[in-house]
Amino acid sequence: MKNYDAFPVDALMNITSRPELVFIRGQGSWLWDNTDKRYLDFVQGWAVNCLGHCPAVIADTLARQARRLITPSPAFYNQPAIELAARIVENSCFAKVFFANSGAEANEGAIKLARKWGALNKAGAHEIITFDNSFHGRTLATMSASGKPQFKDLFEPKVPGFFKATINDLDSVTDLISDRTVAVMIEPVQGEAGVIAASDAFLRELRELTRREGVLLIVDEIQTGMGRTGTLWGHQHAGIEPDIMTLGKMLGGGVPLAALVATRAVTCFAPGDQGGTFNGNPLMTAVGGAIMDTVLAPGFLEDVNEKGDYLRAGLVALSERYQLGGVRGRGLLVALDLKRERAGEIVDRARDAGLLLNAPRPQTLRFMPALTVSVEEIDTMLEILNEVVAESRIIT
Ligand SMILES: *Cc1c(COP(=O)(O)O)cnc(C)c1O
Repeated sequence: MKNYDAFPVDALMNITSRPELVFIRGQGSWLWDNTDKRYLDFVQGWAVNCLGHCPAVIADTLARQARRLITPSPAFYNQPAIELAARIVENSCFAKVFFANSGAEANEGAIKLARKWGALNKAGAHEIITFDNSFHGRTLATMSASGKPQFKDLFEPKVPGFFKATINDLDSVTDLISDRTVAVMIEPVQGEAGVIAASDAFLRELRELTRREGVLLIVDEIQTGMGRTGTLWGHQHAGIEPDIMTLGKMLGGGVPLAALVATRAVTCFAPGDQGGTFNGNPLMTAVGGAIMDTVLAPGFLEDVNEKGDYLRAGLVALSERYQLGGVRGRGLLVALDLKRERAGEIVDRARDAGLLLNAPRPQTLRFMPALTVSVEEIDTMLEILNEVVAESRIIT
């Protein structure tokens, strides 16, 4: 890899094994590396770039806002933050928004808000029930909240007070509830676990149970929010109204922006309890506003649903052709079960063939394209994947 050797990557901490290429530019569903090779991107910054790479609306908004005001300080109001918070509130069952810079930070805020609420209203109840294989971030508290097996023995001692239930098993939640419990925290679809959905019935039962027990329901919509599953928020499929929601990833469409969103009744932070230097800065919240306008435009979410159906139908056909394990997911958050632990190999072969995919589990491929992906691009992805699967001889 001559061209790659020109990049002195040694100074970067080795936090993940990266392929030997360097991305230089992107446009829509496509990325170009340092040799000018083109890749069809079904990872999109880890389900982040809802409008694809470098959309004009983000470039223009950043340029315009950067000339106006970048950071006045979180201790002052700014117009883009006020407007984006209002848009989120108008289009949800929530009343209050706190902006953050990453999903983990938003979840950290949700945990703090729940614990404060428990201190004020439930005699210091502070335990939070989360789920096996869940993923809530990489700060110490959010790693403790996560049910990712690889996190279990890392960076001990972790933050206490998190207990793991089993998704779609209400009894496993009931068994963990005590008068120390303040909240249940759940991803409507577990993304990093391999696109495992909480059923609509389970979410409704969970809402009933938490109401009855006086326990808060927190939905981590960092991966499922902003239209990813075909509704603006993932919990809307179940028709429930949670107490707290967290957003990240597609909220900024590629720039660092996240949010902690809550009902009026549970918002109990007093001045000084929560904050952060870059939180709610106008440069990022202006982008969030532009993304929100795009996603809420008439027809946008219908289009996401149609393309999600199209993608799933294509993958179902491929799964049947090679007797794989079937397709899961909703909207444009989709997984293909390979039925054998060959996903890493398929990802490597696909990349060589000019297609970027993700393997959240050893036997699972995840598809998280831009919400603006075209039907032709889905066809191209399916063609490349078909060839890669055929050539890899994973079929025995
Ligand atoms: C990505 C993700 C997070 C963490 O967000 P970061 O921005 O990486 O901190 C948390 N929860 C879910 C469901 C996610 O998909």
